[in-house]
Amino acid sequence: MRTNPALVQSVLFPELAKGNGRMLPVIGEQKDIRYHSAPAKSVLNGPEVTGMGYWSVNPYVGCAFGCSYCYARYAHRYAMERAAANEHMDVELARDFAEMPPWLAFERHIFVKENAPQVLRKTLRHGSEKHRALIEGDSIVIGTATDPYQPAERKFRVTRGILEALAEHPDLSVAIITKSPLITRDIDVLSRINRHSRLSIHLTITTIDRELARRVEPRAPTPESRIRALARVREAGIDIGVNCMPVLPGITDNPSQLEELVKRVAAAGATHVYSCALRLQSTARKRYLPWIEQEFPHLAERYRNTYARDHNAGEKYREGLRKFFDRLCRKYGVRGWSYDPTADEDAESDASDMLAQPVQPARFDEQLLLPL
Ligand code: SF4
Repeated sequence: MRTNPALVQSVLFPELAKGNGRMLPVIGEQKDIRYHSAPAKSVLNGPEVTGMGYWSVNPYVGCAFGCSYCYARYAHRYAMERAAANEHMDVELARDFAEMPPWLAFERHIFVKENAPQVLRKTLRHGSEKHRALIEGDSIVIGTATDPYQPAERKFRVTRGILEALAEHPDLSVAIITKSPLITRDIDVLSRINRHSRLSIHLTITTIDRELARRVEPRAPTPESRIRALARVREAGIDIGVNCMPVLPGITDNPSQLEELVKRVAAAGATHVYSCALRLQSTARKRYLPWIEQEFPHLAERYRNTYARDHNAGEKYREGLRKFFDRLCRKYGVRGWSYDPTADEDAESDASDMLAQPVQPARFDEQLLLPL
């Protein structure tokens, strides 16, 4: 299903989209980051609006982790533009809107939906249309656009409030995507949800190389701390696996490192490892390609050539990656799945055929990666 970016942007930040003439007060500062209160009228964005197959919740707009490949920057830009159009900005926010590159504003001005738990409680009142859809099997995914356990959550606890609201209802299906060990703070409320609903956590780990992680995801928690968090959540009896995505061609796709990653997370109790090669939509590309020029200049031309034609890595590369992860997941006993953005129904049956076949000897090496 395709996502309509304009719709996603408006539902990520509905209060600004409607323009009610209110300013966005600063409610906190942390080093070079400013937090702005941005009350929301709705927090649960439905499949028909976002184009995704589930309901999504994002407590924050903007993210301090600053990953080089982040695709959510466009939503923040939209929020800034709407704030400017509706004269919601104070002098400093207006100055940074004018002068700061949008990719940096995404990391430095975080909008906090402080009232999200109360709004969600009202939305999920028993018997409401949304409540019915959710107990009939629709899923809620928290953190589809920005990390719900980014540093802001330590202070504002919006994600925790949302989880507490969800814990009041049985028979839900809830998933959370994060890179942060801060999720372990909420094991108590996660356990309450887990007792009477389906809950799964998706912890993103793109590399176990600490130095490389620091370059690629400069302000995100270390890979080791994420793996420790994984073990703690699993010990609490909660389903947790790893999203090894995106895999960055030529950067985080070293086969022995990927194998070590799968081995370690499996040993820590991960129930699944999902993977996907880097996709570069237009706003992510605006940040990522100059970053490659600066950090990995030897790869710049390959990236330009590959992603100039398509949002996706080459087909051979994706296929090699998929087989590689499939083999690893079988070897270490975790459930595996690779997202293929171009997959159609036929491809799905190809995948099941492939699972039944012996995997070819690995051709997943630098040579294969060269054409991307
Ligand atoms: S953690 Fe997610 S939302 Fe935050 S910067 Fe990284 S990719 Fe973007």
